[in-house]
Amino acid sequence: MTRFAWGALTDTGRVRKGNEDAYLAVDGLFAVADGMGGHQAGEVASHLALESLQSWFGSAGTDVMVAAVEHANADVVERSLGDPELAGMGTTLVAMALVDAGGRDAIGVVNVGDSRLYLMSDGVLTQITEDHSLVATMVRQGRLTEAEAAVHPQRNILTRALGIDGTVLVDSWEILPVVGDRYLVCSDGLFNEVDDNRIAAALRRLADPTEACRELVRLANEAGGRDNITCVVVDVVDDDGRDLTVDPAVRIRSSHTGGDPVAPAVGGARPKSRRRGRTSTSTRTGTPRSKLTWRVAAFVGAVALVVLIALGFVWWTGTKTWFVGVNGEQVAIFHGKPGGVLWIQPTVAEDTELTVGDVPAARLLDVQNGVEQPSLSSARAFVERLIEQRRSQGTTATSTTSTSTTTVVR
Ligand code: MN
Repeated sequence: MTRFAWGALTDTGRVRKGNEDAYLAVDGLFAVADGMGGHQAGEVASHLALESLQSWFGSAGTDVMVAAVEHANADVVERSLGDPELAGMGTTLVAMALVDAGGRDAIGVVNVGDSRLYLMSDGVLTQITEDHSLVATMVRQGRLTEAEAAVHPQRNILTRALGIDGTVLVDSWEILPVVGDRYLVCSDGLFNEVDDNRIAAALRRLADPTEACRELVRLANEAGGRDNITCVVVDVVDDDGRDLTVDPAVRIRSSHTGGDPVAPAVGGARPKSRRRGRTSTSTRTGTPRSKLTWRVAAFVGAVALVVLIALGFVWWTGTKTWFVGVNGEQVAIFHGKPGGVLWIQPTVAEDTELTVGDVPAARLLDVQNGVEQPSLSSARAFVERLIEQRRSQGTTATSTTSTSTTTVVR
């Protein structure tokens, strides 16, 4: 018999008014969900996802867990479509459960979003799940360091979540339970405040799982507590006396879906088994689900191509356009679309000598909303016309001489 001991704790933190996190800790099934949405919608989403997961999950295989997450997604989508107050709500979901893997016990892990599951084995902490977030994608592409990602203003933008679309891509793993192993399931309110070294130290120091949870929440609050914090700590206390040295089974199997579509550069190279310690027994071999037939590969390739073209178009419209708009008190030429396109925000290409007060009243609203121009030179020509109009109205008195300001107020 594989047996667990566990503790769990959720905390609103020091800044947020409500707690949109939720957790599930019943024997053999442990999960964390971090909801998002206006008013109480995030709270509804995270609790609904966990209830749904629990009701759809029977004690069976990892594939059943994946199916349960898909059902949970459908339930959140349905609820959000049926209630205008809940429109647009979503949630992350990460779960581990005792499952049957071909007649033997295994720990099934599923993940969507940027909550995490860590495994501490032989005192070494390893993040098993991959974050489905914009910054994680940028880290994988080498565009951000881990340290930059941790403080990035857009670190809460997810590339996958439950409740957004009728279909959801679910990452899954199967891990052999070994006595002494400790699992941590948590929301980003923990690891955005407390780095992995300090998390690992707390998990090593406190043997009792409930005390370990309390300490982790305390550390996150001490560091600022800017988000809701949720921790579930699960210890493997019995594993049928499994001896890994004679056990031919693979320690960690990944039925991973690969990088997100926005991260084509990382494609099939992930995930590597980042486990240290007993690495000799942890090779990444395919489970039946990860065996790609050429047909599946062709389909995936076609989908990836469509996504790439769509992203390319978004990028093109997001960056290859100009507009004349307002930057603080100054009229400026921007690169991009007014208001931005998805994650691409406009940037100031150049400031002009015009202040908002110089703009003729008839054009002021247009400029405040951003006047799009097909090229930089046409944007400059537009500004020239505004300057001409100002001269002809003889309102030069208010114009300043600071023509080469470099301050960007955003
Ligand atoms: Mn959070």
